[in-house]
Amino acid sequence: MNALRILKQTSFASALLFWAVYVHGQTTISKWQDDKKGAVSITYDDGSINQFRKALPIMNRMSIPATFFIITGQIPGSQYQGRFIGRPVKTVIEETASIPTNKDNFYERSSAAGFLGFRGTLDYHTNAGAHIDAGRNEEAYKTIDELYKKVRNGEFAAGNKTNNEVDEARGVTWDDIRSYAAQGHEFASHTVTHPRLAALDEVNMMYELEKSKEDIRKQLGPRYTFSAEGPYGTENERVMEYAYKVYPALRNRMPEPFLEELNRSSRKNPGSYTKEYVQWQRGATTKTPMPLMKSWIDTTAVKDNIWLVLVVHGVDGIGWEALTSKALDEYFQYMKGKDLWIATFADVTKYIRQRMNASIKTTEKKNKLTVNLVHNLDKSMYDLPLTLKTYVPSIWEEIKVKQGKETKSLRPQQDAGGSFVLYQAIPNSAQLALSQSKHSFQ
Ligand SMILES: [Zn+2]
Repeated sequence: MNALRILKQTSFASALLFWAVYVHGQTTISKWQDDKKGAVSITYDDGSINQFRKALPIMNRMSIPATFFIITGQIPGSQYQGRFIGRPVKTVIEETASIPTNKDNFYERSSAAGFLGFRGTLDYHTNAGAHIDAGRNEEAYKTIDELYKKVRNGEFAAGNKTNNEVDEARGVTWDDIRSYAAQGHEFASHTVTHPRLAALDEVNMMYELEKSKEDIRKQLGPRYTFSAEGPYGTENERVMEYAYKVYPALRNRMPEPFLEELNRSSRKNPGSYTKEYVQWQRGATTKTPMPLMKSWIDTTAVKDNIWLVLVVHGVDGIGWEALTSKALDEYFQYMKGKDLWIATFADVTKYIRQRMNASIKTTEKKNKLTVNLVHNLDKSMYDLPLTLKTYVPSIWEEIKVKQGKETKSLRPQQDAGGSFVLYQAIPNSAQLALSQSKHSFQ
């Protein structure tokens, strides 16, 4: 018996012991897909036209997906455009002559503000909404009083003027969007007209949320009705309550017990949180130096619980705080070089919710491990593969992983816990069977 054979026997014996008493069969779900160190979602707001003409080709070249929050009302072929639902605006205007704006009539007046038949009145809705979002309600009422006084005095020219976000988004068609979606990008709602949702009454707010969703569903299908972003990053509680009735995921807020939320204006250090996940939103503007943007990536790659959500607006001169496509190219390349999961906003949301709501059962029988992965979320929406890590007997040199008709052959990896394999598993589907590949017997 030579030395090698003794060594083999020894490892076989310890493997048997390992099989009998230790962690083989223990299965966990990786924190991020493919067991990456963190996640990054690149999100674009408003659908300004250079996002598609300039930034999207760069992302395609690097095979990274984006999430685009689009304003649906301005896209040719959409069924629903901006409108005011309520009493005749003439009645609303007349009433403002005798009754000052207050908490009871504010929402109707502010909802009607952009649809009075004059150019420039929409800005007052937007400004009043900024006050409401900041908790300055009295200022908002004053803004609306000022608007209607000017309207009654005939100070506006007749017509209709949409906001900048809508104007800068013009040029993209549903056909374009369908082709981009087929390339792997997520499209999601940014409402019908980009209003200040917090300054709309219930019926007009629901119109903005629901009709945008309806056009997206008709044009792209139900998969694209998962995520939304209320304009101006609103975190207004009243808005969130309505919006969560329409969309399962909002970038504005994501209240989950296992998730810490740091929004774009937060100055807190994401590394100081110990929750299972930290959603860290960052929005680069024209003043943000590239080294700072890169440091967000470094921080995400160093920790293991950070989901960096980047918010981009304008690109190459079109849209708010436009970044250059050259800078984006450099930034995405830097990101690609790290051990990070770059995925859409919907996919990361689904992954972490599925993982936190999943249960795994592993059974062993005759050199075979059987893994059952289930969760109790809506199965039609939450069907993303999860990455599982299963410890296997150390004598297994090549492992066959089978789920339904799919079979993969994998080499085990080693860590302090022993020999393991990483593989993708579809939840609420066929159970998975792990066994030693026959041809690896010697
Ligand atoms: Zn926006």
